[in-house]
Amino acid sequence: MKLDAKIPGGPIAQKWDRHRFELKLVNPANKRKYEIIVVGTGLAGGSASASLAELGYNVKTFCIQDSPRRAHSIAAQGGINASKNYQNDGDSDWRLFYDTVKGGDFRAREANVYRLAQLSGNIIDQCVAQGVPFAREYGGQLANRSFGGAQVSRTFYARGQTGQQLLLGAYSALSRQIAAGKVKMFPRREMLDVVVVDGKARGIIARNLVTGEIEKYAADAVVLSTGGYGNVFFLSTNAMASNVTAAYRAYKRGALFANPCFTQIHPTCIPVHGTYQSKLTLMSESLRNDGRVWVPKKTGDRRPPSQIPESERDYYLENKYPSFGNLVPRDVASRNAKEQCDMKKGVGETGLAVYLDFADAIKRDGKDVIAKKYGNLFQMYEKITAQNPYETPMMIYPAVHYTMGGLWVDYNLMSTIDGLFVLGEANFSDHGANRLGASALMQGLADGYFIIPYTIGGYLAANSKKEISSDHPAFRESSAGVESGASKLLSIKGKRTVDDFHRQLGNILWEYCGMSRNDEGLKKAVKLIQELRGEFWENVLVPGSEKDLNQSLEKAGRVADFLEFGELMVMDALSRRESCGGHFNEAFQTEENEAKRDDDNFCHVSAWEYTGEGKEPALHKEQLVFENVKLTQRSYK
Ligand SMILES: Cc1cc2nc3c(=O)[nH]c(=O)nc-3n(C[C@H](O)[C@H](O)[C@H](O)COP(=O)(O)OP(=O)(O)OC[C@H]3O[C@@H](n4cnc5c(N)ncnc54)[C@H](O)[C@@H]3O)c2cc1C
Repeated sequence: MKLDAKIPGGPIAQKWDRHRFELKLVNPANKRKYEIIVVGTGLAGGSASASLAELGYNVKTFCIQDSPRRAHSIAAQGGINASKNYQNDGDSDWRLFYDTVKGGDFRAREANVYRLAQLSGNIIDQCVAQGVPFAREYGGQLANRSFGGAQVSRTFYARGQTGQQLLLGAYSALSRQIAAGKVKMFPRREMLDVVVVDGKARGIIARNLVTGEIEKYAADAVVLSTGGYGNVFFLSTNAMASNVTAAYRAYKRGALFANPCFTQIHPTCIPVHGTYQSKLTLMSESLRNDGRVWVPKKTGDRRPPSQIPESERDYYLENKYPSFGNLVPRDVASRNAKEQCDMKKGVGETGLAVYLDFADAIKRDGKDVIAKKYGNLFQMYEKITAQNPYETPMMIYPAVHYTMGGLWVDYNLMSTIDGLFVLGEANFSDHGANRLGASALMQGLADGYFIIPYTIGGYLAANSKKEISSDHPAFRESSAGVESGASKLLSIKGKRTVDDFHRQLGNILWEYCGMSRNDEGLKKAVKLIQELRGEFWENVLVPGSEKDLNQSLEKAGRVADFLEFGELMVMDALSRRESCGGHFNEAFQTEENEAKRDDDNFCHVSAWEYTGEGKEPALHKEQLVFENVKLTQRSYK
């Protein structure tokens, strides 16, 4: 298979305009004749549904939660990037583009990233028009703060609740279309298969999570915006319902999966505190604007932080990376925290934590100013740890947070299945091997508000419209497969719970395919995952019935997919014989322990094709061409 990214020609700054002009249009009267399915109502899916319906298409929208506004996007805290240059500090589309390509360790597609930077300002305008209450300066101008991997302040925010406010904006636009009858909303539905007819995505099979019924829906195109798969690690900062199922089942139907091993481990999370914990909590990267990261200089120093004098503290990020200091990108900050803990300088009961200290900022700006910026985050921290971060430093440690990998898409955001588009965290597109903070919200909303409305029209206009009904044999075959999958899970009646398997899978991946990897560990992980998967299908206990609300069954299906997908992640990690961004193979590092890329042999996207049950997936490569940015060793010193 030859992967064609369909990148338009011409200078990078003109590609998107030119492409929009060249894309065929669907006339307004004809738009009313098309049915589009959107799966997911996070920022990507919510904005896509609203925008497509506003254009006149008939949209059916699906989500797992009981309300579209409970999608995982609601959890986003710190902010959203845009190159408005309100601070007059040297920002531009070009700088945002450059920072993002460099931040992703030169493993993203230039043309997509430039378009993202170009659209970033429109997103802020759109959201302000919807009433999103972004933080403002005294004079009324929108405020900005800094995020990792950038030396300008370009992050727009609404306290520590930016995702929630942006989602309420998208949700209100969506609700308007629901009321207008242009969007039909299907909450509490889980998409379990994509239906492909004559090589084109023509619908989905979904389970009604309340009644257990298997439902079939036909359409002219399908848009997946089903989020990231960080929960494959069991412990992550993702919402409990985040999963890989929709993307993985599309993969099994012919959509290629790109860079599955590129996982983001976020440096500032509340450390793990026990074996039976089910969730990890993020402390937003925005805190690194004012918080200073340090560990005791002496190994094994057990004194409380207040008793460790300045001269005995190591502000290791500030010392090692004087230009970016505490605001180095996430992969760099995470690896350095691990390094300090590996050297036995970690703090707290487990020794797996470093300090994030606000004492200097409070002394400088006063408690009120700090509370205004981060009050809800400080409160959340105190509720979970029973420690007051105004008085004692926070303790933080890296945790799984985001997945840069996802379904492969071309410049139009279409997967390798015609008519199947993929938006937001579910695609692999713009962040390369490491995402910069505040760029996920930007990408999800660019995809939903500003890209898919054009590119889906181009697809529909270029293909003659063929009617299809959900009685087509392909729908019957798909739905029978989904039903038998559920029956099989229920029939096993083993002894171990789904969570037990999931936790063990997460431990394997964290240990061998987490913050740093080596060949021996990765090979061991393949074997362990295969054994665990074998045991799962013989010994999992899924109580209840498929004809009812059954959360164990829901989870079992997701964990069954994770157990296959986890192996794909490890294979991807094994095949990439370099280190880059979030993929750190210990065999490939510079003398200063930074990731060492191999641009001659690995400057490509790895896209995996499903070849059948029990068979090795086939690897395809999209060569990345850099015409505007020079490939260099990333430096934040
Ligand atoms: C704690 C936290 C804080 C973050 N803070 C920031 C931040 O400050 N800035 C930033 O840029 N990024 C941040 N991120 C990342 C960002 O929030 C996500 O990448 C982004 O919100 C993903 O949006 P999405 O629309 O792609 O998917 P999601 O918001 O995950 O939505 C997925 C949707 O798909 C639905 N779905 C999934 N599977 C199925 C299925 N099989 N059938 C039907 N529906 C399905 C779900 O119900 C949901 O509606 C943060 C992430 C976390 C975890």
